[in-house]
Amino acid sequence: MPDSVPHRKRSPSTSSSDASSKRRKSSKRSASSKRKNNEQAIQDDDDLPNGEHPISGFDRRRESTTRTARDPRDEFHPPKKRKVPKAARKEAEAPVNGTVVTRSPTPVIDFDGLSRPSAGTRERLEESPEQAVVRLGRMRGAVRTLLECVGEDPDREGILDTPERYAKAMLFFTKGYQENVQDIVNNALFNEGHNEMVIVKDIELHSLCEHHLVPFFGKMHIGYIPSKTVIGLSKLPRIAEMFARRLQVQERLTKEVANAIMEICRPQGVAVVMEASHQCMVMRGVEKTGTSTITSCVLGAFEKKSKTRNEFLSLIGVSGGRRL
Ligand SMILES: [Zn+2]
Repeated sequence: MPDSVPHRKRSPSTSSSDASSKRRKSSKRSASSKRKNNEQAIQDDDDLPNGEHPISGFDRRRESTTRTARDPRDEFHPPKKRKVPKAARKEAEAPVNGTVVTRSPTPVIDFDGLSRPSAGTRERLEESPEQAVVRLGRMRGAVRTLLECVGEDPDREGILDTPERYAKAMLFFTKGYQENVQDIVNNALFNEGHNEMVIVKDIELHSLCEHHLVPFFGKMHIGYIPSKTVIGLSKLPRIAEMFARRLQVQERLTKEVANAIMEICRPQGVAVVMEASHQCMVMRGVEKTGTSTITSCVLGAFEKKSKTRNEFLSLIGVSGGRRL
């Protein structure tokens, strides 16, 4: 998604990783102090596939625009370095009805089914009615400030209720933070022994670009090849909707949906393609109307077999990058 964020030109990976390995080696030679290593790790984050080192949020956001849809950070890595809060760890390990709940093996769907939750996600999910009122009040105030800053009179009759309306609209646009995958799926998994490709296409999605908080919208096509277990068909659009109703970049949205389905029904493969128009591109910046951005994420059989992938692409009407 083109936007004002400066895109860091990435040199071919071989040369950059050579350079970084040299840096790493020299760092090992010169100093063994833990702090030094940490600093090096932060510098090397660009070259590390898992990106687990603490870098500033700004850098992380910047990186998200330059990464491809198959971001290795979202693949499974042993969670040895992941810091799980003590309370959360206890909760995850606590026996429920005599059975031990173990952490989900990937970071895609967390043990609470929230996926990529931040502190704010949990807060919003568990808020009391009183806290909801406070939240809305804060948002109203923020929108009023915005109105003042753009040169409006927030007490003008026409926009008097705009802060309230906008705050409520914003909460709706981001309602995915109040949902979790486990509730959505709600055990709608069936052992059908069906092993042929299943496709749900033309799922309309509306999301907000996390860089500009303006909409991007379009259609998503989801295909998967079950490994005996099939998921209720209506669940696929609902999973996509949950992720879309959060602040997103299209690449990550595509990937999150694919990974979630992969994790929920352990199919032979999943393919997700999304085609969307970005208002941050249309209304500002390059101001190109009529452009659309296509992202895809293919896992399992779709990744391994080009024949399977092509069958999916032809069934959804995309072939060789051209609409049929
Ligand atoms: Zn944007």
